[in-house]
Amino acid sequence: MPYDIGISVVPYMEASKKETIKQNRVGRLASTVEFAKRLNNHDHRIWVTVLCIQWFSSGFVDAYIEEPARIHFIQLPHSYIDPVRNAITNIVSMKSTSNSTWMSQPIWNSLEFECPKPDTQNTDLEHLILGFANPVPSCVLPSFLFNKDGGYTAFVKFAQRFKDAKGIVINTIEELEPYALRCFSNAQNPPIYPVGPVIQLDGLPNPELDLVQRDKVMKWLDNQPESSDVFLCFGSMGSHEPPQVKEIALALDRSGHKFLWSLHVPPPVDAAAGTRGMVCGWAPQVEVLGHNAVGGFVSHCGWNSILESLWFSVPIVTWPMFAEQQLNAYMMKELGLAVVMTLDYRKGISVRQVMDAGSKVRKKVKKTEEMARKAIMNGGSPFNSIGRFIEDMIGNI
Ligand code: UDP
Repeated sequence: MPYDIGISVVPYMEASKKETIKQNRVGRLASTVEFAKRLNNHDHRIWVTVLCIQWFSSGFVDAYIEEPARIHFIQLPHSYIDPVRNAITNIVSMKSTSNSTWMSQPIWNSLEFECPKPDTQNTDLEHLILGFANPVPSCVLPSFLFNKDGGYTAFVKFAQRFKDAKGIVINTIEELEPYALRCFSNAQNPPIYPVGPVIQLDGLPNPELDLVQRDKVMKWLDNQPESSDVFLCFGSMGSHEPPQVKEIALALDRSGHKFLWSLHVPPPVDAAAGTRGMVCGWAPQVEVLGHNAVGGFVSHCGWNSILESLWFSVPIVTWPMFAEQQLNAYMMKELGLAVVMTLDYRKGISVRQVMDAGSKVRKKVKKTEEMARKAIMNGGSPFNSIGRFIEDMIGNI
């Protein structure tokens, strides 16, 4: 008998920021579709319905609809964002249904459940947060927690609803965050299913990607020596102001390394002048990280980017921009898998640290990659988690 699992992809941004919403969801949708495919592959009785808010001009969902998978997409107009978000929130709060929730990583969860109220007057404080071995500095907490209009309260309310879910599916690698997962797994919380890394390695080309440009980028990398290039990319929404762009260009020049830089806005004329790199628009990030010419990644630390870099064992220099990215960056540094970007002339030095063939961070990232690949290949932890999830959900119907 077939079972249909419903997944909704609802943006959390303000409906008025239309461009933001469009960009926001491209990354989210990709990992959701990948997860849906894994459910399909694991158990042929499973069909997945993905509910997503339609955005403008993108053929992304249309392209997926063409795929012969047992995934059904329902696209809803923009004006449905609020009612759909409310409906989903209500479903999540109904204990009797078989709903579960999809998260990127345990630290995010722990934070939502356990984060003490931040002191807006003293942002130097450190917090003991479940899932973190060491106290977490206020400055890496998402800024909306400090929002005077009740950011923290809204966050906690939202988090409490997750407690009512039947399960929490997390896109993390069990072996990457064993401490956080252990802290979080107890009788008071719903069961946790760490199913990651859920990344799209052979997905459809993103509609933002210019295929001619893609070929140029890959050809350029093909001509570079092994591990010689630094790749810079700041996610689907990441862009910098012209003065910052100039500063980054200068720092790159000082680092002495070649680079590939994904800039989603046209660079100021002289930004990359005199440097030894290539500037492109939307980058084929997964392909780039998988290329052996790439030795380091300056990243905004979006969760997909982190998983992709670990999968290809490319160490990160963290450059978080907003929301949970600071916390992701902090976690990566704590785990010894990234180096923090310094904000002065030493920028060159943090880049050099990840590019150094014998560096500690490089060795640790390589170990993590091996762990992640081994887990997947042996039908290991993510495979078992998906199996447990399906069993628990179908058992609950
Ligand atoms: N991405 C890409 N090319 C770009 C920018 C982003 O392919 O120029 C992809 C990247 O591989 C990742 C996703 O877009 O899969 C971004 O997701 P992430 O969670 O890292 O950041 P967000 O965009 O949500 O801030």
